[in-house]
Amino acid sequence: VQNSRPSLVVDELRVSFSGFVAVDGVSFDAHPGEVRFLIGPNGAGKTTCIDAITGLSRGEGSARLGDVEVLGKPVHRVTRLGIGRTFQTASVFEELSVMQNLDIACGISRGPLSLLAPRREIPAAVEDALVEIGLQDQREQAAGSLSHGQKQWLEIGMLLVQQPKALLLDEPVAGMSHDERTATGELLQRIARERVVVVVEHDMDFIRRFASRVTVLHQGKVLSEGSIEQVQADPRVQDVYLGT
Ligand code: ADP
Repeated sequence: VQNSRPSLVVDELRVSFSGFVAVDGVSFDAHPGEVRFLIGPNGAGKTTCIDAITGLSRGEGSARLGDVEVLGKPVHRVTRLGIGRTFQTASVFEELSVMQNLDIACGISRGPLSLLAPRREIPAAVEDALVEIGLQDQREQAAGSLSHGQKQWLEIGMLLVQQPKALLLDEPVAGMSHDERTATGELLQRIARERVVVVVEHDMDFIRRFASRVTVLHQGKVLSEGSIEQVQADPRVQDVYLGT
């Protein structure tokens, strides 16, 4: 029986692009209950790790969600297996309302066609996601009119309605205000209670405040791993990344 709260275990992940090895034997695991960070300088291979796990790039090695190998599966299968992913730029349907965006992510139409059929109950998953991302007051607002931070939360909500077991987020707080960053960190902590949450991030203040465990990548390899205090004290990390 598949565990309903599985961990993500990445083992010796390797990704190359026409001979250039971007990810060179990276291993890490992430468990429900922690906000897991992947950090490292530009070009370290963080996004490529996530791309490979989610089926966007071809990777060798292994990435298992519970007992299920996801590496090598196409994006739609990885999604169906319960891994959701956000990109650096939020992709929401700008002309549609917050609710319509969540409905679409849930596979429901509330457009003109819905007049032909009795309006369905709002699925609990949509209502729950709306509350979780804190956009109840914006539910009928066009997504295009949301703030940058709110769009990112909507995108996270669109993943939540699919009830994923793992969320991989690529720089979720880039461009956010301080208050939006705080709200996002708290959101991620809530989401992580029941799910794997892996965050690629640069913002050191955000990482310090919200990271459980951190893996530092450098030139495609794991340089250091542990609590933020542990990796910041690691001389190898200070050499290549943190500097000060
Ligand atoms: P990070 O997310 O840590 O900034 P990336 O994973 O984006 O780093 O990139 C790691 C390395 O792989 C970089 O040198 C980048 O130029 C290279 N790379 C990423 N994607 C591709 C691609 N599609 N083709 C060729 N090289 C790529």
